[in-house]
Amino acid sequence: MDKLSKWAVLLTALAMVSGCNDSSSNSANDSDAKPELPETPDVPETKVRKSLMVMIDGARYEALLNASTPNLDKLVLQQAYTGGISGTLSQSGTSTVEGESTLWTGSWHNVQKSGVDGFKTVWQHLKADDPEFKIGLYPNWPIFDYLSFDLKDIEHKQAFRSGTDREAEHVNSKLIAEKILTDDYNSLFTTIDMVDYSGHCYYGNSGGAWSHDYIETIEEADEIFGYMLDAVEQREAEHNEEWLVLVAPDHGFNRQNDDDSVDCSHGSQDIDAKKIWIASNKKELLNEQFTTPLKSIGNRDKDGIYRYVAQTDVSPTLLTWHDVALQPQWEIEGTSFIGDLGVRGLFVENAQENGAVEIHFTASNSLPVQVLLNGEEIQIIENAVAGEVYTFQPKLDVLEEGSHQVNFTLINNNIPKSVSASVTILDSVDYDDLPFESISAVYSFDGEFTENSVVGGHDLQKTGEPQTYSIWGKYDRALYHIRQFNNDLLLEDTFTNTDKFTFSLWFAGDGTSYDPAIITNKHWSSSADGIILAQLNNQLKLQVGANNEGSCCFIELPFTASSTTQEWNLLVVSVDKTLPWSSGEGFGVMTFGVYDATNVLHMGSVDLTGPRKETIHTGLPFLINNDHAQSYNTGHAALIDELVIWNDQVFTPGAIATLAQAEHSVVNKLAQQRATSTPAKLTAVDYIGASPNLTEAEQMTEAFWQRRRQMDELKAKLN
Ligand SMILES: [Zn+2]
Repeated sequence: MDKLSKWAVLLTALAMVSGCNDSSSNSANDSDAKPELPETPDVPETKVRKSLMVMIDGARYEALLNASTPNLDKLVLQQAYTGGISGTLSQSGTSTVEGESTLWTGSWHNVQKSGVDGFKTVWQHLKADDPEFKIGLYPNWPIFDYLSFDLKDIEHKQAFRSGTDREAEHVNSKLIAEKILTDDYNSLFTTIDMVDYSGHCYYGNSGGAWSHDYIETIEEADEIFGYMLDAVEQREAEHNEEWLVLVAPDHGFNRQNDDDSVDCSHGSQDIDAKKIWIASNKKELLNEQFTTPLKSIGNRDKDGIYRYVAQTDVSPTLLTWHDVALQPQWEIEGTSFIGDLGVRGLFVENAQENGAVEIHFTASNSLPVQVLLNGEEIQIIENAVAGEVYTFQPKLDVLEEGSHQVNFTLINNNIPKSVSASVTILDSVDYDDLPFESISAVYSFDGEFTENSVVGGHDLQKTGEPQTYSIWGKYDRALYHIRQFNNDLLLEDTFTNTDKFTFSLWFAGDGTSYDPAIITNKHWSSSADGIILAQLNNQLKLQVGANNEGSCCFIELPFTASSTTQEWNLLVVSVDKTLPWSSGEGFGVMTFGVYDATNVLHMGSVDLTGPRKETIHTGLPFLINNDHAQSYNTGHAALIDELVIWNDQVFTPGAIATLAQAEHSVVNKLAQQRATSTPAKLTAVDYIGASPNLTEAEQMTEAFWQRRRQMDELKAKLN
């Protein structure tokens, strides 16, 4: 309550100083500035601008409000959100890697590109603007092991790796305080980690982020923050400097269960995991993006959380503070909460029709809005009304058929703001033209669980006694499998060592916050050879690894998760090792399509960089609902129907949609084909058998292929 009433006072104060956004201003008294400066010699010289960013790992907003935090109370606090926009391309996990990389780039983790053309951090932008700019990155958690940003120009960086040692965090932060006082840094970053450990039920705290222990840990973190804030104040008193202090967490924690039990984790799209906060010491400079949550907004999901400050706003704020103008090509999705305002509340929505996209933003002025698609202007909007939501369908005719990750940047009042979207321009594919003849395996789970419906194909193998049940599925019956270690269903891997392959399956999942494998030929670890498809919260994750190379290559797509009803999603994984990368620098592309239960197709692709083209084949069989580590999350249940292996085939978006919309199963289709090929064998097609000892079934198959060859020849002649 304390903080909320303070907030009301601040709003009044801000109303008096609105418009104060001159980056060189050093005084809160601009509201009564005179039109011309008097010619006095004692105008204070411009102070050197410095900054300190502190990330308090895993500190929930409501818990902070309930804690006694005398140091943070000296700052202005506002509710904020993390985890991207749920159900869109930007949806990102609510964990440290995702949160910290978002704080550093101003873009949601899931849309950040890596590699040479990858996203740059705020530190790289500041360094590029001024090579003398002295930056120190001193997190307590070893984030450098997990992020692939190019930080070689940042001279001073070191992770303290204090783990659960709370006393060490006091020592480390006193060291940072010392650096603030004596080392002439321009900008410093650090983290305080103990709150996250408390939320994870460490320190004997079984109540996690809903316990009194957790509140007390926030209070201890505040004490630690105090060492650094005191140092900033002392530094300002002793030097001609002005410091911007920004504090924010990376994430909250997953919602408490209805029975008050906790799962001691974060990562989900729960409100309590997404809801964070941002605090700043510069209340006289804060603009409406910070002070005034949007009343009109194009996305009211998640209890209206998107009205508030976003985690992506921190980076642009820091850049604006240091007088570095935001560039459209940086694809920054946030809005600076100091300085001038462009458009706010920018959202993109995929309509169900072919390729249609809707963009919403809230105008903060009536100036024109220039719309860029992948850096090229596609239109200018001149009739936006300040304070109101503007909605439009951008022109996408420059895009070809297929699936694209595109970037829209809206420039207004000279300020760019970006949003990324996955856009799929569907090709039209007839169901009968799907490559059924390429299928080497169909596991329909209608009769015997291990049976392959393709005559002569490999059945599933078993180790031990897998716990399997039959339930009603997408088509007829489906597999309900409960994970028990070393009691598995195994699929022989005869396809990942070929140039092209696709596998498809129908999946219903509960969106668990652990990330259990749905199907994989690798150990659970990200940096292990092989390919893994897993569910994680409201997303499905397809990842390809290479030993000891870290986690790089994955696609995360939303799906319809439900623990109460069976919501069937079609999952299609295609690999083409001969396809060039988008950069042209190598070969091998993996694509993933999810046709969800609301009939929306989500698509993504990733280049098979490094040795991944080879290491995707591990020589191990695929496990269904388990991975080869045999050590993680026992008891997980999987619901799977109609797993199909398509040899030498890659599916286009149109083919995925057509397969998903089919009224009948693939098994059904193959049975029809067999039925129609039987009379053909007896009448129209003379089987010219080179091997007289073929069984009747083999003769039927051979006749089918002969007829196909004849039809192909006929087609060729007609052309
Ligand atoms: Zn954590």
